[in-house]
Amino acid sequence: MAFEYAIALTGGIGTGKSTASSLFMLNGFKIIDADKIAHSILALSHLEIAELFGDEYILKGSVNRPLLGKLIFRDKDAKKKLENFIHPKIFDEIKSQSEKLDRFKFPYLIDIPLFFERKLYPMKTSVVIYTPKEIQIQRVLKRDGFSEEETIRRIESQMDIEDKRSLATFIIDNSGSLKNLQSEIERVTKFLQN
Ligand code: ADP
Repeated sequence: MAFEYAIALTGGIGTGKSTASSLFMLNGFKIIDADKIAHSILALSHLEIAELFGDEYILKGSVNRPLLGKLIFRDKDAKKKLENFIHPKIFDEIKSQSEKLDRFKFPYLIDIPLFFERKLYPMKTSVVIYTPKEIQIQRVLKRDGFSEEETIRRIESQMDIEDKRSLATFIIDNSGSLKNLQSEIERVTKFLQN
């Protein structure tokens, strides 16, 4: 069976999912990473992407991800087209990894940035990595080097972080230092492993 011991790990762009995910791993959790799976599927899909969007989205035989990213954040139809192509493939791969992890009969995390937006995955328990929007913007600006306008557009293309917070089973506050994040992770680990 799939998703039996799975817990959703989610949050907004730049609220700290990847950082939290590494810390959860150090605390003994196995993690299924939806973004990583999406990247590997995309890496294998240059022919399909050329067919869907045109040859200009292929660079040296690979998908030009920054260019495709720009397109889908601006163009709703293109976004839908990419999602219709890639989401079923991501789902199948996550399901297959989840079936394997369920055999251990021990909780594990599935890192899905759009868990609440998509409602595709059946997990009942969720962990939201939270920072207020101002910190989220500052961290994304620093990490990705987009303009402030582009950063805000990307953040606002997702569900508001306050709404995700209100839907969470567990909230991990990542507004403080990395040391604070580590103790937040340890606090929640105790609940999740019981
Ligand atoms: P996400 O995976 O949710 O997009 P990341 O884990 O990549 O977010 O974190 C976004 C950025 O903020 C990264 O550059 C990361 O190093 C930094 N970061 C994460 N947590 C903290 C923290 N507690 N203090 C300072 N910087 C942080």
